[in-house]
Amino acid sequence: MKGYDIRIEPEKCSSCLVCQMRCSLQYFGEFNPSKAFIAVQWPEGGVANEVQFTEDCTYCGICARNCAYGALTITGRRKNAAVES
Ligand code: SF4
Ligand code: SF4
Repeated sequence: MKGYDIRIEPEKCSSCLVCQMRCSLQYFGEFNPSKAFIAVQWPEGGVANEVQFTEDCTYCGICARNCAYGALTITGRRKNAAVES
Protein backbone atom coordinates (compact mmCIF):
# COMPACT_ATOMS: atom_id res chain seq x y z
CA MET A 1 0.00 0.00 0.00
CA LYS A 2 1.45 3.34 -0.98
CA GLY A 3 -0.86 5.40 1.14
CA TYR A 4 -2.09 8.91 0.63
CA ASP A 5 -0.77 12.41 0.42
CA ILE A 6 -2.23 14.24 3.37
CA ARG A 7 -2.31 18.01 3.62
CA ILE A 8 -1.85 19.47 7.08
CA GLU A 9 -3.43 22.81 7.93
CA PRO A 10 -2.37 23.29 11.54
CA GLU A 11 -4.25 26.56 11.91
CA LYS A 12 -7.48 24.55 11.70
CA CYS A 13 -6.45 22.07 14.38
CA SER A 14 -8.63 22.15 17.51
CA SER A 15 -6.40 19.86 19.60
CA CYS A 16 -9.20 17.30 19.82
CA LEU A 17 -6.63 14.47 19.45
CA VAL A 18 -9.09 12.26 17.60
CA CYS A 19 -6.40 11.68 14.97
CA GLN A 20 -4.02 10.33 17.60
CA MET A 21 -6.64 8.18 19.26
CA ARG A 22 -7.78 6.72 15.96
CA CYS A 23 -4.21 6.01 14.84
CA SER A 24 -3.25 4.31 18.11
CA LEU A 25 -6.43 2.26 18.00
CA GLN A 26 -5.58 1.10 14.49
CA TYR A 27 -1.97 0.15 15.15
CA PHE A 28 -1.92 -0.71 18.87
CA GLY A 29 -5.52 -1.61 19.66
CA GLU A 30 -5.86 1.08 22.29
CA PHE A 31 -6.69 4.75 22.65
CA ASN A 32 -3.26 6.13 23.50
CA PRO A 33 -2.30 9.41 21.84
CA SER A 34 1.31 9.01 22.90
CA LYS A 35 1.64 5.96 20.64
CA ALA A 36 0.16 7.61 17.56
CA PHE A 37 2.19 8.21 14.41
CA ILE A 38 1.03 11.82 14.31
CA ALA A 39 2.18 14.46 16.78
CA VAL A 40 -0.06 17.34 17.82
CA GLN A 41 1.44 20.07 19.94
CA TRP A 42 0.26 23.50 20.95
CA PRO A 43 3.25 25.72 21.69
CA GLU A 44 2.80 28.21 24.46
CA GLY A 45 2.14 31.59 22.90
CA GLY A 46 2.03 30.10 19.41
CA VAL A 47 -0.57 31.17 16.89
CA ALA A 48 -1.18 27.66 15.58
CA ASN A 49 -0.72 24.09 16.69
CA GLU A 50 2.11 22.02 15.31
CA VAL A 51 0.91 18.88 13.55
CA GLN A 52 3.44 16.44 12.11
CA PHE A 53 3.57 12.81 11.07
CA THR A 54 6.25 10.70 12.71
CA GLU A 55 8.66 8.51 10.75
CA ASP A 56 6.48 5.46 11.49
CA CYS A 57 3.44 6.87 9.74
CA THR A 58 2.15 4.62 6.94
CA TYR A 59 0.04 7.38 5.38
CA CYS A 60 -3.00 5.17 5.62
CA GLY A 61 -5.26 8.21 5.85
CA ILE A 62 -7.33 7.05 8.82
CA CYS A 63 -6.49 10.13 10.86
CA ALA A 64 -7.49 12.43 8.02
CA ARG A 65 -10.80 10.66 7.55
CA ASN A 66 -11.56 11.23 11.21
CA CYS A 67 -10.46 14.86 11.52
CA ALA A 68 -13.68 16.83 11.80
CA TYR A 69 -12.01 20.22 11.63
CA GLY A 70 -10.40 20.05 8.21
CA ALA A 71 -6.86 20.15 9.56
CA LEU A 72 -5.99 16.90 7.77
CA THR A 73 -7.10 16.35 4.19
CA ILE A 74 -6.36 13.51 1.81
CA THR A 75 -5.28 15.07 -1.48
CA GLY A 76 -4.45 11.95 -3.48
CA ARG A 77 -2.42 8.78 -3.69
CA ARG A 78 1.22 8.95 -2.72
CA LYS A 79 3.48 8.55 -5.72
CA ASN A 80 6.84 8.22 -4.01
CA ALA A 81 5.95 6.55 -0.77
CA ALA A 82 8.80 5.25 1.34
CA VAL A 83 6.59 2.53 2.82
CA GLU A 84 5.18 0.00 0.41
CA SER A 85 3.92 -3.52 0.71
S1 SF4 B 1 -8.17 15.28 14.53
FE1 SF4 B 1 -7.71 17.17 13.39
S2 SF4 B 1 -8.39 18.83 14.75
FE2 SF4 B 1 -8.22 16.97 16.02
S3 SF4 B 1 -6.12 17.06 16.87
FE3 SF4 B 1 -6.03 15.86 14.99
S4 SF4 B 1 -5.45 17.34 13.38
FE4 SF4 B 1 -6.19 18.50 15.15
S1 SF4 C 1 -1.83 8.40 8.24
FE1 SF4 C 1 -2.32 6.49 9.32
S2 SF4 C 1 -0.39 5.89 10.27
FE2 SF4 C 1 -0.16 8.05 9.70
S3 SF4 C 1 -0.75 9.18 11.54
FE3 SF4 C 1 -2.58 8.98 10.26
S4 SF4 C 1 -3.64 7.11 11.02
FE4 SF4 C 1 -1.53 7.08 11.79
